[in-house]
Amino acid sequence: MLRLSQGLLSLLESCPRKFQYSILEQLAPPPAESLQNSLDWGNRFHLLMQQAQLQLPLGPLLNGQAAMRQAFEALHQANPQLLTPSPSAQYDSEHLRSFSLGGHSFTVIYDLLIREANQAQILDWKTYPKPIKAQTLAKDWQTKLYCFGLVATSHYEPDQVSMTYWFVRGKDNNSQPESLPIRYSQQKHEQIAAEILEKTNQLNLWMEQYQEGQALPQIQLGKTCDRCNFFNRCRGQIGQTKAEFSVDLEAIAEVSL
Ligand code: SF4
Repeated sequence: MLRLSQGLLSLLESCPRKFQYSILEQLAPPPAESLQNSLDWGNRFHLLMQQAQLQLPLGPLLNGQAAMRQAFEALHQANPQLLTPSPSAQYDSEHLRSFSLGGHSFTVIYDLLIREANQAQILDWKTYPKPIKAQTLAKDWQTKLYCFGLVATSHYEPDQVSMTYWFVRGKDNNSQPESLPIRYSQQKHEQIAAEILEKTNQLNLWMEQYQEGQALPQIQLGKTCDRCNFFNRCRGQIGQTKAEFSVDLEAIAEVSL
């Protein structure tokens, strides 16, 4: 039994072989420095929002952080309800829930969960600047698993659940946060249950084959592979560079079949 999350489902969907290297073999390389800076900013912002919900001092997190202060204040201006909760609602930051399906356990962690008697709202802070299309976001495993997980672990019906992404970091320091609300439904709930079962059945089969010494499938060589940190391990021999490997590919292309 694996403990799966939206990130692991996305990884499995994007490339099963990468899932093998990163998760089964724990070979994940550290993120690039530029990515690490964004991750650090995002982690600090999430901590800030949690501290604010718990009414703890924010000074240590905001001092000398002009961009973060601006993003924090703009978000609360755009949604004053965040700091002055309705008395009829329960607010929970970094709220964790777990459920099991298809022989695996799943964990979701909500940045903020707002619960009322007949409706529940999941809020998620995104710290990359540009909102992506709502349609893309609705199909993202985060949206699917987060909504599914709440219905699976509560009394709420699917149409009483919604998820709102807040993009808190604009393109420049003066831009305003933008939100993308997504509604859930019974139809989506059933569809996602079927998708999860399909994924876990496939994963179970791959895991059995992996135990017998067979690697998980690669994806077709393309842009995703070009950006992959496991390129040499996966596509070439360990130690071989991308440049060396691309020469091999060209040679193969000239073979007449
Ligand atoms: S190089 Fe391509 S197939 Fe191999 S792990 Fe990376 S993304 Fe997957």
